[in-house]
Amino acid sequence: MSMMISRFAPSPTGRLHPGHAFSAVRAHDLARAAGGRFLLRIEDIDPGRSREAFVSGIEEDLRWLGLAWDGPVLRQSERLDLYAGALERLKAAGLVYPCFCTRAEIAGSVAAPHGATPVYPGTCRGRPVDPAELQARPHGWRLDMARALAALSPGERGLFWHDATAGRVMATPAIHGDVVLARKDAPTSYHLAVTIDDAAQGVTDVVRGMDLFEATHVHRLLQALLELPTPAYHHHPLLTGPDGRRLAKRDGAKSLAELRAEGADPQALLAMLRRKDDEGRGKA
Ligand code: GLU
Repeated sequence: MSMMISRFAPSPTGRLHPGHAFSAVRAHDLARAAGGRFLLRIEDIDPGRSREAFVSGIEEDLRWLGLAWDGPVLRQSERLDLYAGALERLKAAGLVYPCFCTRAEIAGSVAAPHGATPVYPGTCRGRPVDPAELQARPHGWRLDMARALAALSPGERGLFWHDATAGRVMATPAIHGDVVLARKDAPTSYHLAVTIDDAAQGVTDVVRGMDLFEATHVHRLLQALLELPTPAYHHHPLLTGPDGRRLAKRDGAKSLAELRAEGADPQALLAMLRRKDDEGRGKA
């Protein structure tokens, strides 16, 4: 059997909170218990929101917690060529198309529940594009979901993944419509970069919050299209406060840096997070 490899893959768009630490410790402990490797990947593809100070903050916070990672820290911003290569491959297969729509245009044309990303109505799909327009106008690239699904070989039609929480899950990527694979401001998107890097780093077990469960439908499809292996997924419940609500920055939850400044004991915090994890899995 191959060695277990897990990872923690934060986006450096703010300081880490106990909710991040919950995910990190779970990924860390899973790998350590199996004698495997625990990797740290910085998902800094968002040029508008990523900050260097948050990158060093992440490393500092993990060190404070005593969660040591193996090998060098991977930075997505240094791997843009790799993502662009995968996009070229999908372009050559006719599975992506350029999209010139603005967010406001999309929001104005489709109704979506509050906070949800609207399913793209397909405005730019099938639209003839001349190369001069591609040069001149900002655009992203979207997956043509119907064509992508049709491109799967019969053996790949019933895509699924194994989830430690949910069991065997049938992938239904069509629920997301034509997702963005390259943004106007970055030559990739979260979906494309995360799928490629989990494969490139040999990640066998993806540990992340339940809030990313739905995204896995897209990742599973991209794995099939790009001929990448499918890791096991561990989508864990989100850390909640005493009132049972998700701990979130907007509700004034303290960052690890703030807790540290107040003299919090990292061992006690880790013990609390591990206890919560056990409780969540009915082990305590
Ligand atoms: N970078 C993502 C985030 O911070 C997590 C990616 C993942 O674990 O797949 O929300």
